[in-house]
Amino acid sequence: MASPSRSDFFEGSTEAREFVDRALSFIGGELQAVIEAHGITYESGAPRPVLDEVWARSRAAGLYGVTLPRELGGAGFSVVDHVLIKEAIYTTGSPLAAHVMGELSGPPRVGALARSATPDQMERFILPVARGEKAICFAITEAEAGSDAGAVQTRAVRDADEFVLNGTKRFISGAPFCDMAVVIASTSQDPDRRETSAFFVERMRPGFRIEAGYKTMAGQSGTGNIILEDCRIPATNLIGDQGKGLALALGRITVNRLLHCPAMLGHAQVALDDSIAHATRRRQFGQAIGGFQAIQHQLADMATELAAARALMLSTAQRIDKGIATRADASMAKLFCSESAFRIADRAVQVHGGEGIVQGSRVEFLFRLLRMYRVLTGTSEIQRNTIAQELLSPASA
Ligand SMILES: Cc1cc2nc3c(=O)[nH]c(=O)nc-3n(C[C@H](O)[C@H](O)[C@H](O)COP(=O)(O)OP(=O)(O)OC[C@H]3O[C@@H](n4cnc5c(N)ncnc54)[C@H](O)[C@@H]3O)c2cc1C
Repeated sequence: MASPSRSDFFEGSTEAREFVDRALSFIGGELQAVIEAHGITYESGAPRPVLDEVWARSRAAGLYGVTLPRELGGAGFSVVDHVLIKEAIYTTGSPLAAHVMGELSGPPRVGALARSATPDQMERFILPVARGEKAICFAITEAEAGSDAGAVQTRAVRDADEFVLNGTKRFISGAPFCDMAVVIASTSQDPDRRETSAFFVERMRPGFRIEAGYKTMAGQSGTGNIILEDCRIPATNLIGDQGKGLALALGRITVNRLLHCPAMLGHAQVALDDSIAHATRRRQFGQAIGGFQAIQHQLADMATELAAARALMLSTAQRIDKGIATRADASMAKLFCSESAFRIADRAVQVHGGEGIVQGSRVEFLFRLLRMYRVLTGTSEIQRNTIAQELLSPASA
């Protein structure tokens, strides 16, 4: 049996199923043509003009703004539908999968902010991103504020009808090709008191600079630092209430953490599929290596772990849809999916032997990519802290 096929059974709504069909046809057709025309690989990423083209095409195909609230043109999908759609997109193995719905720099970044945005902010920031005309990134992390996000040192000081921002953000996804950023900065007057606020900051403002000279282990330069030096922004760029920055950023953390899982599992599925194909094709000692029990058991373990991770992802999505999920639910899903996906990628490299180690082979890339998810959006240790805190809190006793 090949890896479990989802084509005969889809756990989501009919609308989501239709959406997946459209997305897959877009990825296999138009998007693949763009990839071939520009020689885009996982390693290379894509330059901004190509991304502009991809976002515009995705929007024209009715895919780009699907995650937005209904009033902004979103489809109003449930969380279950959403994870199934994302999983299907990532399972294609397309190097531009993250741009089909604009996850790095598009609508998913601003959907939740629409509730706090003023009409002016809707016009200047949210709607251009929703239309795929502008790209946005979300900047919290700093040199001294990683897992402890509330420790941000970037300062925003009020000066008449402006704020003046100073500080350095690092590891910001999508920063190299962004037009604007949501920046979480300290607005506290007292160094001993934590108070953070969220701001829209345009790239074209004097004092806003991107440093994108480093690559992550996954190769692409999709991550960069944002340097703010006496960067003046209108006070009207403050998002929501002053002092509620981190709350705003983490407000949807349960959903956001879960929504990383389908990307990991989509990639893990690609690693499994490639391993099955390799085990069938590669011959040693006069037979396909898939005939060796050692290889069969690795494939079996990969498939089992993937099925378990997927079941946890879907049950967590159901709990979120029912309004009964806690932070620990999403942390368990993120922890288990990221750790499982990496173990699957590791076994995939083993099944491929030397071919899996050579740079340029897909499983070698997936191994590096999936290693990163154990750190991103809260490390595995931070997820365990969240789970344990909930287990040990008086309410659970
Ligand atoms: C590719 C990539 C993209 C990213 N994109 C973004 C982005 O778009 N926006 C953004 O703001 N940030 C982004 N980040 C930053 C990311 O969120 C942080 O890297 C992550 O939160 C961990 O912070 P840190 O790297 O400072 O590690 P640290 O917090 O320094 O952690 C180092 C180690 O200490 C452990 N540790 C820390 N505190 C505890 C604790 N209390 N208990 C137990 N162990 C602990 C950690 O688990 C880890 O093992 C990105 C990072 C990467 C690598």
